[in-house]
Amino acid sequence: MSARKPSVIFCDFDGTITLSDNIVAIMKHFDPPGWQGIVDQVLSKKVSVRKGVGDMFALLPSSLREEIVSYSIHNAVIRDGFSDFIDYCKLNDIKLLVTSGGIDFFVYPLLAPFDIKAENIYCNSSSFDGETIEILWPHPCDEHCHNECGMCKTTIIRSYDSEQYKRILIGDSVTDFAGAQLVETIFARSHLIGLCDELGLPFTPFETFFDIIDRLEQMNYND
Ligand SMILES: [Mg+2]
Ligand SMILES: [Zn+2]
Repeated sequence: MSARKPSVIFCDFDGTITLSDNIVAIMKHFDPPGWQGIVDQVLSKKVSVRKGVGDMFALLPSSLREEIVSYSIHNAVIRDGFSDFIDYCKLNDIKLLVTSGGIDFFVYPLLAPFDIKAENIYCNSSSFDGETIEILWPHPCDEHCHNECGMCKTTIIRSYDSEQYKRILIGDSVTDFAGAQLVETIFARSHLIGLCDELGLPFTPFETFFDIIDRLEQMNYND
């Protein structure tokens, strides 16, 4: 009889913990000339996520800092059940990591009301010291990833060995897809559903974090 493996969850932020994408919301609202073209280049994979996000924020003057931070914090809505989900993870000794391609100035304030240790939150950083906003990349791709993710989800997932952990991913979009192919359990919504379908990857669809709790509870029972 082997000991049960502990579970670790890699949970996306934009469009997963929050209802919509905060970077897109900021760009739409402040509308710096040229941002839409950069988004198109990222979506058509002509430029990497890292370059695209860096270039988009470089269109915004650092002097807008307070407005941008305030806008993003007040605009975002947290998905139902997130607080219960954190409690559920705690109660069941599940390690919850937030793995976000978002930026520190909105990720940390939006997660501040919740009981998640800062060391379990992975996102990009920012500097407002220059003329325009500069995005910094404290969690780059390792030697196995050549996608220039910016914040590399697969690098973090690879640091948790599947021999030792049950790995669970929660996400909504193309930036979660590479990670989804590494883990044992996938919770998907929006674009990630279609991508998993295309590859025939099994997943559980979700709309709220209550759906995820229910499924984890079933998995726990069947274990
Ligand atoms: Mg997302
Ligand atoms: Zn990467």
